[in-house]
Amino acid sequence: MQPFARIMLVALALVSLVVATGDAQNPLAAGQVPGTTAQQAIDAAAAALGGAGRLRALRNITLTGYAQYAYQNGGGNISPLPGAPQKFIAANDYRRIYDVQNMRMLHQERRNDLFPFANYGGHSFALQRQGLDGDVAYNVNAQGAAARGGDARDRRMWMHANPVTAVRAALTGAATVSNRRQQDGLTLVDLTLREGDRMTLAIRPPENRPHWISWIGPNTNLGEVVYTTTFYGYQPYGGVELPMGYTTKIDWRDVDFMKLYVDGYYVDGDIPNLAASATFPPAPLGGTLAGPPQLGAGTLTQQPNIASLLPAPRTVGPGGAAAGAGRGGGGGRAGGTAGGGQQQIPVVNVARGVWRFGGGTIALEFADHITLFEAGGGLDRVRQVVAQARQLVPGKPVTQLIQSHHHFDHTAGLRQAVAEGLTIISRRDNGVIFKEMTDRKAPNFPDDLHRSGRTLSFIPVDDHLQLRDATMTVDIFRIIANNHIGDGVFAYIPEHKIYIEADIATAAEEVQWWGDSFLDNITHRKIDVDTVVPVHMDIMTFEETVRMVRPGIERVKQYCQEMVAKGNWFPGCPAFLR
Ligand SMILES: [Zn+2]
Repeated sequence: MQPFARIMLVALALVSLVVATGDAQNPLAAGQVPGTTAQQAIDAAAAALGGAGRLRALRNITLTGYAQYAYQNGGGNISPLPGAPQKFIAANDYRRIYDVQNMRMLHQERRNDLFPFANYGGHSFALQRQGLDGDVAYNVNAQGAAARGGDARDRRMWMHANPVTAVRAALTGAATVSNRRQQDGLTLVDLTLREGDRMTLAIRPPENRPHWISWIGPNTNLGEVVYTTTFYGYQPYGGVELPMGYTTKIDWRDVDFMKLYVDGYYVDGDIPNLAASATFPPAPLGGTLAGPPQLGAGTLTQQPNIASLLPAPRTVGPGGAAAGAGRGGGGGRAGGTAGGGQQQIPVVNVARGVWRFGGGTIALEFADHITLFEAGGGLDRVRQVVAQARQLVPGKPVTQLIQSHHHFDHTAGLRQAVAEGLTIISRRDNGVIFKEMTDRKAPNFPDDLHRSGRTLSFIPVDDHLQLRDATMTVDIFRIIANNHIGDGVFAYIPEHKIYIEADIATAAEEVQWWGDSFLDNITHRKIDVDTVVPVHMDIMTFEETVRMVRPGIERVKQYCQEMVAKGNWFPGCPAFLR
């Protein structure tokens, strides 16, 4: 080693020693937040945000901007593997009114999938308006009528995922503060909201502004998740410092749950009455991308998509849960976690040894056991499906579950299936994400899997796996020619010429972006199909399926023509279709 290099190494070692003893290993932080108590840390943050007096006197803040959500919390990508390109949903016309004086909030946004999806509704900038009035959550439709619904706790957490509302809560008694500690150059304190919910606030010296805030929420697919919202680029508005960017990550794969870009704030402006009993101004229906009128009509009547804001109905299928779990700002858990209260799910005996449960789970009877296909629709639904499947044929246990693919609407009951002791069968790479999903603990929001302590048992499928015994043969094939599912399987029962599928032909009827995939898979496997038993739709004949898909393919072509004619090079256009 050259003498100069040796000197430099010694110098670098000394520098890092000094930095380490200064407890400022975070290059973004310098010095110490004043004081030694949690309250003193909050006081320093209040001073940095405009002063305790200004914050106490604050009446309201209106944030305007635009945002993007990770589609299905990161569980809706083409591949189940970490690092697959993340699909995002735009949330434009984003507005959040914080009525801190009255402990109320109204949030609005218009969502648009930034990738091709199978219905016009995903591309219609459908308006969502979600309110909170104390403990009451409500939703406002386009006509301005408010109806109770939504998760008040979830909305309360988002209301306080803002540096000013969080610190103000600690000044006014809406939250207590405790447990001051140091982490990575930041000073951390815990906030306990009056309602009992906990958040952790990180304060960054030397400016002593909040750097991030984190909290825990329930999640159907992941058990529970830690949300961490980091604040970027403070600017003064009305005597208060507010961030111009918010990034909320979850503690699974470091997913960017939401990226929020601020246009600006109105502070202490004239805001509407946000009481749950109030009447709100109507809002125009969304936008130019609502689809051809004759086909979009069904979509328009659903706007605003209030259904997607409500807890999933207890008998809803995977498609219904998709709207809630995939798109929400909350990403909570559909249904409760304890047993009881679940209604009987209707079951159709499709053929000898084959049943379909309402909402899209198929049961297959083998000589000494029953195998299920697909566990969507939430934990409660799958608990009930398994309970009923155990009664289908006396003495036959339910032992296996075939999962078509990993998308989080289709796996919204996977944790329950593992809790029930089922062995999961799917494409090899899906085992990677299923292991991650089912290894997660949920001590704050325990579900049956957390309580059971069970772990994933998995049988991988590469190109083809045949399940066969004396009474039943089921072929499980890898899906090909599909730009929605990169790693998926469908099932085929030769005896009945039944094709069991999810999302290949039946993700939604309107726009069949990957519609050729249905026939391509049949041709590729040289199988003879009489009947299609889908997860999302009703049972159809082969001919009915083709008749359903074909116009959807034509609508994609028409849609892309219209988009491109407007100069909107919409994702997926021109369509990769024959
Ligand atoms: Zn689907």
